Amino acid sequence: MTGHDRDRACPETSTAETALDEALRRSFWQRLHHDALPPMLALQIAAGAIGTLYRQLAEAHRGPGGCACGWEPDPDGDLIILEARLASAIIQSARHDLARMPAAGRA
Ligand SMILES: [Zn+2]
Repeated sequence: MTGHDRDRACPETSTAETALDEALRRSFWQRLHHDALPPMLALQIAAGAIGTLYRQLAEAHRGPGGCACGWEPDPDGDLIILEARLASAIIQSARHDLARMPAAGRA
């Protein structure tokens, strides 16, 4: 497992993960509704965007002027981690997802 397991993450990391997760999902749903994209096309675009982000982050960690945080991109190993996270999110219970969903309006 990685240091980003939700159950073991420090509060600051957990808050940042939640904020990023919510921002990505909110943007996705807004575009999906606005553009009326077919579901699988929308998901393929989102997957492609994740791949682009990975490539850009990897490039930012290469060379003498790259980020010095210590992360060393490993496309093969990192892809396994990303696939596992994707699979986990797909089979996650709907109840858990609803519990994490921010309120969209007022009742
Ligand atoms: Zn870095």
